[in-house]
Amino acid sequence: MTAYDDQNIFAKILRDEIPSFKVYEDDETLCFMDIMPRTDGHCLVIPKMPCRNVLDASDAQLAAVMATVKKVANAAKVAFAADGITLQQFNETAGGQEVFHLHFHIHPRHAGLPMRPAGQMGDMDAIKGHAAAIAAAL
Ligand code: 5GP
Repeated sequence: MTAYDDQNIFAKILRDEIPSFKVYEDDETLCFMDIMPRTDGHCLVIPKMPCRNVLDASDAQLAAVMATVKKVANAAKVAFAADGITLQQFNETAGGQEVFHLHFHIHPRHAGLPMRPAGQMGDMDAIKGHAAAIAAAL
């Protein structure tokens, strides 16, 4: 397993070295919006303590992250009047991971509406509004 790199973009978000649209935080976890959203309301839940992904996370980190995933997923479902929620989580490059700090993607989903392609920068005003909508539903 490659060592954790504290210069990854989510570590910088945790240190407030780069801005993010925060949705929720507690002592162990942070939820913020993905800036290339594949769905309206696409957000990410990360542990505050460093780990690369599920493969090196402690059981306590995983428990804390999943508790926040459940909390935010329910709020996002309400905020977007979604029919369902898709969770995504990738491990190492071959597994589709691009940022090497453990994270779960939360996607509000509507029946018949596909996810947008990855890698397209979103509208920052819209993303800010989506963060506020989820936070208000929490
Ligand atoms: P993964 O590692 O699970 O493949 O995806 C990483 C995710 O991080 C992507 O969905 C991408 O849009 C998102 N992302 C990449 N850079 C930034 C950033 O600077 N800020 C935020 N909020 N999200 C980012």
